[in-house]
Formats: sequence, structure tokens, C-alpha cells
Amino acid sequence: MNSESRARVEAWLQYFNDLNISSFYLDRFSAPTAPENIPPGEPRPKPDTIFAVKTPAKDFNSLAQAAPLAAALPVVKSASLFESSNRIENDTLERIREDIGDCKRCKLCEQRTNIVFGSGSGKAELVFIGEGPGHDEDVQGLPFVGRAGKLLTQMIEAMGLRRDEVYICNVVKCRPPQNRAPEPDEVETCSPFLFRQLAVIHPKAIVCLGATAFQSLMASKLSISRLRGQWLDFRGTPMLATYHPAYLLRNPNAKGEVWDDLKKVMAHLGLKPPARR
Ligand code: SF4
Repeated sequence: MNSESRARVEAWLQYFNDLNISSFYLDRFSAPTAPENIPPGEPRPKPDTIFAVKTPAKDFNSLAQAAPLAAALPVVKSASLFESSNRIENDTLERIREDIGDCKRCKLCEQRTNIVFGSGSGKAELVFIGEGPGHDEDVQGLPFVGRAGKLLTQMIEAMGLRRDEVYICNVVKCRPPQNRAPEPDEVETCSPFLFRQLAVIHPKAIVCLGATAFQSLMASKLSISRLRGQWLDFRGTPMLATYHPAYLLRNPNAKGEVWDDLKKVMAHLGLKPPARR
């Protein structure tokens, strides 16, 4: 390996080390022959097949059992190194926050005020995942604290839960400029931290708020209107997508559909709505 390739590999390893990932899977079937053993004139392997990983078919098979439409979900690309690694032993939310540090891993760091890690109970049975922090969240360093956040709190309370009994976070932890949707490279860079949070909390159900959260977790481009309200499978955890509270602020008529979705979650968790006073 020449010095330039070595530096690139070291940079990648440092990146995954920052994410607390130290185990790598080497695909023996697609790994290239050692360059020194390749006869003269034979084609040389591409360097990026060295860390090739297998697609995690298990997750998508169980997903297909969960809902017929889910079978249409494409496997967009091969799994990332993070997805192929085993769960990190003894991981904690504190450790994940420490690993994030003063993160500059993607361009969203440039205009953020605060990293919005997530809030709520680390033992929550229910996790809500949004798209990314907005202005109020960026200022306060907390998820869902603006107008949409107030509506989310009302939705949680209507389910008979307190906000501090659930866990709330976003796909990306820094505010996208002008509240634009996070870009694919930003989602790809930040989502390993979200996946670690979900592995630590190990909830009984996940609710994706809006298309970005759903599409990021499922690696799918399907529209939320097609899969809204259906149970899917995210790595063994039942997951349901519904509309984002910000959408409900603009389209109050959709509140009924969201309430129908939340009632499915309540039934799954064995919750009854609080008695009206
Ligand atoms: S969005 Fe995530 S990856 Fe990007 S800078 Fe913020 S914490 Fe880091």
C-alpha cells in the first residue's frame, strides 16, 4: 500500500474509531487477491472492494413480512461499515454524546449553534424521530421545542404519556440552513449516531415523523403517503411513519390520520388514552 492509500485508510479508521466502531467485516468472497499475487497482465482489483460488506438481507426480509408494500422497498446500496458491525458492547447515550464531541464531520456544523442530541428517557418504550433541528431547537440545543414541538407534546400527552417518558431525536443533529431537508451525505454521516441511540434505548416502537426520518431509516425513496400508518421493521423494532407535526400545523385536516396512526402505537404499547376531564 502506498503512503497516500495508507493515509486514506487511516483517516477512515479514525472516523470509525470516533464512532466507537472497531470491528470490521472482511468479505472473503469479494476481497481482492493480494496485489503481489496477481500475475502480470491480470486486472487489478479496485481499492474500495477491500472493505466490501454483505447486504443485511435479514432486516429487509423481516420488513417484507411486516407489510406487503414493504417488499417494494429497495435496498438502495450495500450496507455501511457501521451497519455490518456488531452492536457496541456497553454503549450508553453518554458515550455516544462524548463520541460526537464538537462534531465537524459534515457541513451542517458550519452554521449550527448547538448540537441537538436528543432528549427524554434512555429507557423509553417509544422513540420519536424527526428530520433535523429547526431554529428554536438550534438555539436551545433540544429537539422539538418550537411550535411543532408543542404540538408533538400534545400528541404524546393525548397518548397518555409524558414527554419525559419517551425519547425524541432527529436524523441529523445540527440545523440545516434555512430549514432545508438534510442532504444524503449529511444523513449518511450523522445517522450512525442515531442508530447507536436506538440500539442503546432499544424501544418497543419507533415513530418516524415525516418523510426524511422514514426514508433515512428504511433507505427508501418511497413517499410517506404510501407507507404512512403501516408497521414496518427497523432492525427488529416495529416502526411506523406518520406526518411531521410541522406538516400538521399547515394541514390541520391531517390530524385525524395521525391520531389513527398513534392509536396503533398505543395498542402496540398497551396504552389507553387519558380520561377527559
Ligand atoms: S449533523 Fe451530525 S455529523 Fe453533521 S456536524 Fe452535526 S453532529 Fe456532526
